[in-house]
Amino acid sequence: MSKLHLHQHDLPDGLDLGRMVAIDTETMGLDPRRDRLCLVQLSAGDDTAHLVQILPGALDCPNLKALLTDAAVTKLFHFARFDIAALFHALGVLTTPVICTKIASRLVRTYTDRHGLKDLCRDLAGVEISKQQQTSDWGAMELSPEQLNYAASDVLYLHVIWQKLEALLRREGRYEIAEAAYGFLPTLAKLDLLGYGEPDLFHH
Ligand code: MN
Repeated sequence: MSKLHLHQHDLPDGLDLGRMVAIDTETMGLDPRRDRLCLVQLSAGDDTAHLVQILPGALDCPNLKALLTDAAVTKLFHFARFDIAALFHALGVLTTPVICTKIASRLVRTYTDRHGLKDLCRDLAGVEISKQQQTSDWGAMELSPEQLNYAASDVLYLHVIWQKLEALLRREGRYEIAEAAYGFLPTLAKLDLLGYGEPDLFHH
């Protein structure tokens, strides 16, 4: 049974989540400029999730910001582009360095077009996760046990998934191009916030 810790506004002092931290966010919607950040989920890959609830007007979270910008800690996301933009818009810090399992999956699992987190959990971690709470009200002052469990499941399996994808990237000779793509993600998130989302800057 995985462990779940709920924190208010920030991570506790002195918490060490290691050199690679899985991170996900829940927001009020899909537009990071319009929809506020409500929850930041983190895991060290040790079957424990730390959930930081961000309430309106309480956006000073020095420990979380220090982790997001710590050059010695790699932040592991699924679809990092959105989370980096949401975190930058809400907290004013650019998350780096990052890895994105969705990009890794697209680069090596070319035999499928199913690159959602649910697909990767099933195919690479052997875990069925539910996406039922995805569209629930993350702005609620008190989150339900179902919401908290769902939010935790979005970070608990990312390390296992990344291990599999990393091996595939090396096998297929695409590790370096994946790294280059991750390096561009913070800039891409900024471009999204500037309004260069669709069509993107590179489109004809
Ligand atoms: Mn999520």
